[in-house]
Amino acid sequence: MASYVITGASRGLGLELTRQLSARSEVGKIFATARGDSPKLQELAKASSGRIVVIKLDVSDEAAVKKAAAEVEIGLAGKGLDVLINNAGIRQFSQKGTSSMENLQESFTTNVLGVHWVTRAFIPLLQKGNQKKIANISSTVGSITYARLVQPIPAPAYKITKTAVNALTVQYALDYENEGFTIFALSPGWLRTDLGGEQADLSVEDGAEATLVKILSSTKEQNGQFLNIKAEGWGE
Ligand code: NDP
Repeated sequence: MASYVITGASRGLGLELTRQLSARSEVGKIFATARGDSPKLQELAKASSGRIVVIKLDVSDEAAVKKAAAEVEIGLAGKGLDVLINNAGIRQFSQKGTSSMENLQESFTTNVLGVHWVTRAFIPLLQKGNQKKIANISSTVGSITYARLVQPIPAPAYKITKTAVNALTVQYALDYENEGFTIFALSPGWLRTDLGGEQADLSVEDGAEATLVKILSSTKEQNGQFLNIKAEGWGE
């Protein structure tokens, strides 16, 4: 049975992915990581008969990332890890435009360096696993092609970090292709979470389900690709 690590499992998409993963028979242990206490995640873990293991992990702290990877290694008891989902992310706004953007460094640390640090720390465990999959949760707002279309959303730092995470994904994908890894970026659609807001066109349940279908059905041919759960009116 496949084992999973997911970041940012305290709420939103990460919590719902954890819930849906735990309901699937082909899924084994789920290491659901969160930087703080999450009663909802604890409740889910409690009801999971040990399948969900909650691990503390702030992705913006590399030492914490290494510590979490060591804890997961112990939890795997000599087995490899199959799938890593880099989901944790923040969206910060700069209402007065790009030149007033004071949050790029903070956004970058969580959304890009966090993905890099987590990926690097978990690759040795993935190398021992059967599936060797890494899904980096990205966003269509990072698309350079659609930059004009999403210009009204006043979150330049967020957009830049998602563009960067797509580039990071490709670099890892090329480096680990020969070892049989499948590493891709995945946009989950526009979801009604704290980040997505109430106007979003998909429920978190539907977005998580579509995200899981993409992850579970992904093949080596998709290594390095940007997979997109389309929002209304958007192209690939
Ligand atoms: P939420 O704001 O609802 O949840 C964000 C999650 O990330 C929380 O669990 C939060 O933890 C966690 N997180 C933030 N910073 C850190 C950190 N430093 N270390 C560990 N965890 C952290 O957002 P969503 O669930 O909507 O977003 C999940 C992912 O999906 C993000 O990468 C986002 O960019 C992406 N996405 C979302 C879209 C949407 O419409 N919702 C659209 C496209 C992409 P905490 O509770 O501690 O704050």
